[in-house]
Amino acid sequence: KLHNTVLELKGNIRVLCRVRPLVDKERGAGAEGAMPIKCVSEEMLRVAAMENKAEKDFEFDRVLAPDEGQDKLYDEVAALITSVLDGFNVAIMAYGQTGSGKTFTMEGPEGNPGVNLRALADLFKLAEERSAVFTTTFSASVLEIYNEQIYDLLVSGAQDGDKLDVKQGSDGMYVPGLKLEEVHNMGEVTAMISRGKSNRSTFATNMNEHSSRSHLVLSVYVNCVSKLNGTALRGKLHLIDLAGSERLSRTGAQGDRLKEAQAINKSLSALGDVIQALQQRNAHIPYRNSKLTRLLEDSLGGNSKCVMIVNVSPAAENVSETKCSLEFASRAR
Ligand code: ADP
Ligand code: MG
Repeated sequence: KLHNTVLELKGNIRVLCRVRPLVDKERGAGAEGAMPIKCVSEEMLRVAAMENKAEKDFEFDRVLAPDEGQDKLYDEVAALITSVLDGFNVAIMAYGQTGSGKTFTMEGPEGNPGVNLRALADLFKLAEERSAVFTTTFSASVLEIYNEQIYDLLVSGAQDGDKLDVKQGSDGMYVPGLKLEEVHNMGEVTAMISRGKSNRSTFATNMNEHSSRSHLVLSVYVNCVSKLNGTALRGKLHLIDLAGSERLSRTGAQGDRLKEAQAINKSLSALGDVIQALQQRNAHIPYRNSKLTRLLEDSLGGNSKCVMIVNVSPAAENVSETKCSLEFASRAR
């Protein structure tokens, strides 16, 4: 297939697009009438002609339609989770405007878990299956990047204390001072995540606003030691709920709001630049332009694997932001 040939020429980044269903509020407002976003095939999405703009098609490694649930989405990333135990660095991130389904995709609602919990459950399961040959230990961290600052969400009150930085060590990128907690089972993981979430909400006066302006990064560090010869394999998994990609209206944003908007802009455009440079196999990859790309320096290029999930709303009222997200994604492919 020609498609595969094209992919081989490119980097290791797969770009998926997930279209969420209409939410009740939109249905109530009659949004079913004009649906500008159509999933044409498993790899193509069509934006209808609107406001003097012609119809436009966007191609992805995979398009997930509104009726494709968490299982289908997870199927697309499951192979990468196995790679983590084979010593790869993996990043899975959700991109999109606020309300497009990033948190649904990564976290998922109660009883319908998203990528994060499924990935962790798989890691424990796979480690158990390999336990005759490998001793596997897991540790994890939860951090947030807000206004180009890194905050440790496993430490209460960290927001008032030292700002953390990203450094390059002999073992890859790391955040000196960041708390890594050993985890042995899903119970410990879920407890750790809810502690991180509660520290986050202490920081934020308005949680919805705050989560739309900061990147949330759940990281899992895996150490596999062979029982046969003692050799060690180290892998790392970053699960990222990115800040909302919407453009703030130029008027109105002042002071802290403006500073936040500029920081989000900077890190998301830095991410786009890094991915584009990797896909084009450029000699220089501009990792140093934001905290986010610096943190991901050993998880995006080279011997690592990445999936970017571009979340979009199907609703007509969101179509201009949807187009921006799709253009961003096109640059990443
Ligand atoms: P974001 O994190 O990008 O701001 P959310 O994940 O909070 O967006 O999603 C916005 C709303 O849409 C929520 O009510 C969520 O439950 C719903 N939603 C998002 N994606 C889906 C999906 N794939 N299936 C069903 N409901 C979804
Ligand atoms: Mg969210």
